[in-house]
Amino acid sequence: MSHVHALATPQDQANQLLAARDLRITKPRHEVLTLLLQADKALSTHEIEQRLPAGADRVTVYRTIKTFVQAGLLHAVPDEAYGQRYAVCDLGHCHTEGTHAHDHLHFKCNSCGDTLCLEDVSLPPLPIPPGYTVDEITVVAKGICHACQAGN
Ligand SMILES: [Zn+2]
Ligand SMILES: [Zn+2]
Repeated sequence: MSHVHALATPQDQANQLLAARDLRITKPRHEVLTLLLQADKALSTHEIEQRLPAGADRVTVYRTIKTFVQAGLLHAVPDEAYGQRYAVCDLGHCHTEGTHAHDHLHFKCNSCGDTLCLEDVSLPPLPIPPGYTVDEITVVAKGICHACQAGN
């Protein structure tokens, strides 16, 4: 259930996600989104840039990521080494009855350094005092990821 388009290629998924958000499909948008779908983990702007085909324009990459976050395609995960990393919002989890929520746990591996979305681990409601409006809650658990424990 975690992948709505389990049989589609990352390229197809990228096109479908862009179309679903009424975003024009451009080459940089398609490349950045495909990359993140393939990575299946959160990546920083710098990491995204490095993985794109040579000649990717840095400003365009930054702008594309910003557009995706605003459109609800990506969410940012704080990372002490990278500032922010970005992960693709899972349609099955990030959208609950029309509202956009990222109330899942994130996991940072102390061994390989990967940042992963644990979409099946939802955070319990927190007793936010009156007078505070919460836009987003991000909780990052740190430890050793599944792949590292399995010895890769
Ligand atoms: Zn790891
Ligand atoms: Zn996430």
